[in-house]
Amino acid sequence: DTTVSTPLAVLGRDVTVPLVTGGEVTYAALDYAASAPALQRVWDDVAAYAPYYGSVHRGAGYLSQLSTDLFENSRRTVAEFLDCREGDQLVFTRSTTDSLNLLAAALPAGCQVFVFETEHHASLLPWRDAEVTYLNAPRTPAEAVTTLERALADRDPYGPALVCVTGASNVTGELWPVRELAAAAHAHGARIVLDAAQLAPHHPLSVRELDVDWVAFSGHKLYAPFGSGVLAGRADWLQEADPYLAGGGASRKVARRADGGVEVEWHSTAARHEAGSPNVIGVYAIASACKALTEAGFDELVAREQRLVGLVRSGLAEVPEVRVLSLFGDDAPRVGVISFVVEGWNSSHFAAALSAEYGIGVRDGLFCAHPLVRTLLGSDPQDPGECGAPESEPGERSLNAIRVSFGAGTPEEHVERFVRAVK
Ligand code: PMP
Repeated sequence: DTTVSTPLAVLGRDVTVPLVTGGEVTYAALDYAASAPALQRVWDDVAAYAPYYGSVHRGAGYLSQLSTDLFENSRRTVAEFLDCREGDQLVFTRSTTDSLNLLAAALPAGCQVFVFETEHHASLLPWRDAEVTYLNAPRTPAEAVTTLERALADRDPYGPALVCVTGASNVTGELWPVRELAAAAHAHGARIVLDAAQLAPHHPLSVRELDVDWVAFSGHKLYAPFGSGVLAGRADWLQEADPYLAGGGASRKVARRADGGVEVEWHSTAARHEAGSPNVIGVYAIASACKALTEAGFDELVAREQRLVGLVRSGLAEVPEVRVLSLFGDDAPRVGVISFVVEGWNSSHFAAALSAEYGIGVRDGLFCAHPLVRTLLGSDPQDPGECGAPESEPGERSLNAIRVSFGAGTPEEHVERFVRAVK
């Protein structure tokens, strides 16, 4: 298999799992959209660094100094990967969810937020303290832009506003018209944050070219599963806000006041939102993954992945009971993330059978995007329902879906096995 020797080879290719039918089979990890396997390169880099690990920004010892250098160099590497602008700030977080909650906590007073109902809950929910306008699901990329324009036209043009949008859907894999949405936001004096959790692992990403104000993504979906994430973009809102976490590292000076209280001067760099001892290994791992992706380039990755998308699509199209979920239509461009339902099957039972009988790991459920999946399944998007595996009998309409997703290092055999199993 030619993928093994590429710079984007992943771990876990030799893992075998038992089958209910007896015997063992190599595990087909087809749930990259939840968490992708680590790149061999990331694992090697982390292992090589581990003996030199030390606390950053504090220690006088050699290993602390070395770790601080690696930590700050990692910040530069990731900023280059994202093609950030001069003056942008890059904050290391735990995940996309953490990044978007950080931004939500940094919104200026009176900020209006505009978000499509189709977003992942990490993009949909953090704006609890703002005035939020939820936009209806568009059925074409062009309709997404006009829907946003219409909503923004009605707003107070002098107040601050933020648009939050995904780059690639974690349900349908479909690409969203980010550049056009950014232009619409800016034309109406609003800012825009890109949820790139599913875009960054599959697509080259330029903050500068897309002209988004912030971008958020997670290491564990970008082949670096060590508990780190990123929020990068405009410095002003981040620096004017209170620290996301209060504590050591975020504070430059702390002194007792004459009245008995405490006076704090906070940092005005990314450190303002990175209180506490940071996840040095996780940050180093993200930088390692960014480096590997940059060195390998996205051309081959995208071409290979699109071939696999084609194999899945054509394979599923041969099964009349299968319905692939799509917001923008069957021919819309998408990354290696495909959700579907099988008529006559409970999706959870189907996914369990793929695992137990074929050693294939996919995901079932509503994928933390309940309103979107309900819309796509034709159920009521306002129904609060249950997430997970509703008990239904074969023959009943699906209340949830099955998602298959893949990327760097996915062998063709895994995708072929998946199609065979579905058939
Ligand atoms: N946004 C999208 C589009 C996602 O797919 C996910 C993860 N499924 C998230 C945000 C949240 O990422 P995390 O769980 O790493 O915070």
